[in-house]
Amino acid sequence: MASIAHAAVGLAVKPLAPEIHAGWLILAAMALDILWVAFWAVGLETSPAYHGPGAHPPWWDHSLLMAVVWSVLFGLLAAWLGRRSRHRTRIGVVLGLLAFSHWVLDWITHPMTALARTDGGIPIAFGKSPLVGLGLYRSMTAVWITEIGGFLAGLAVYVVWRVRRSHQQPVARPGQSEARVENL
Ligand SMILES: [Zn+2]
Repeated sequence: MASIAHAAVGLAVKPLAPEIHAGWLILAAMALDILWVAFWAVGLETSPAYHGPGAHPPWWDHSLLMAVVWSVLFGLLAAWLGRRSRHRTRIGVVLGLLAFSHWVLDWITHPMTALARTDGGIPIAFGKSPLVGLGLYRSMTAVWITEIGGFLAGLAVYVVWRVRRSHQQPVARPGQSEARVENL
């Protein structure tokens, strides 16, 4: 669940969505984990590796069903927050898809038995629904390569984009409105 590779996905999307602040992109990519922490704090979720009495898979935030629900809601919220922007639809779609990218990445990495021995995968829905996942993080080597490599790759995409953009931006001449120079 907790993973810096998610933040990397958010950074890597920046060139495709220059109008959205990088902080929002990272927040969207990590939204399901943030929800997990919130639900765990109020007792709705149990141990990350869901073992012990009363424990269950992370239904409320990491099931496929709820990931779709939260991603749609996140996209709608983002479109509403950006309602004054002419890019509002795009903002909603990009942030909604990014929120769902979290589930896809978790599906690839779970069950992450290299980190939590009892992890059985992420659920499709509630109750006795199947636990799924490709299990990339059964190997500690894969954890390091994906987390560190993924983060560096995402950061590289973001930095290259920023450098290129700073070269492309028109330099505001004296007397010219600085509003033309967009904030990043
Ligand atoms: Zn997660």
